[in-house]
Amino acid sequence: MSLAEKKKALIEHLISSGYLRTKPVIEAFRQVPRENFIPTAQKDYAYVDEPLPIGSGQTISAPHMVAIMTELLEPKKTDRVLEVGAGSGYQAAILSRLVKRIHTVELEPDLAKKAGEGLKKSGYDNVDVTVGDGSKGLPKEAPFDKIIVTCGATDIPKPLIEQLKEGGRIVIPVGSGMYQELILGVKRKGKLEKENKGACVFVPLRH
Ligand code: SAH
Repeated sequence: MSLAEKKKALIEHLISSGYLRTKPVIEAFRQVPRENFIPTAQKDYAYVDEPLPIGSGQTISAPHMVAIMTELLEPKKTDRVLEVGAGSGYQAAILSRLVKRIHTVELEPDLAKKAGEGLKKSGYDNVDVTVGDGSKGLPKEAPFDKIIVTCGATDIPKPLIEQLKEGGRIVIPVGSGMYQELILGVKRKGKLEKENKGACVFVPLRH
């Protein structure tokens, strides 16, 4: 099977399994070349529904997890989004097709550099990659319509709640062990209304 055929089959699987639910998100998955965000040696696995190593001990999330988190964010064309954990840059690339601008923060300088290269290679210019500790948010760009965290936190960092707009949505894996719970929070009257969206496994958020 060619890469294009594998991509088509993966997207059909994500739709029939209920992970991909809305037209714009499906279209973003069709557009974005996941192979641009993984090491060259792994290209053949670009459209397998698994996380893959991307260096520095980190992983690119499995496509179904990117689909779940992207759908939960309910991205809008006018949204300004914060991502914590750029990693490969793939999740940011998907969101960049769906929102106005995305600011992604990555702790590992090497990964931030590679993420930036993948985004540039794909021709996406509405993503800003910043090196730093994303649990502090990005005060100079706040507030955000949506926040997505792609590493497991023991608790939802306060600065992220503060930097979320009223009515805004945050998707974040929360837990202290190997597994986390995927939490969807909606900010109402300054507080987060939380919903548990199921178990997940992410690399830990570090400081
Ligand atoms: N969204 C990524 C998934 C990356 S895995 C993708 O699409 O590929 C999670 C990433 O979070 C790792 O790259 C890790 O280095 C980063 N990370 C961990 N703690 C962090 C922190 N406090 N601030 C920013 N990034 C962090």
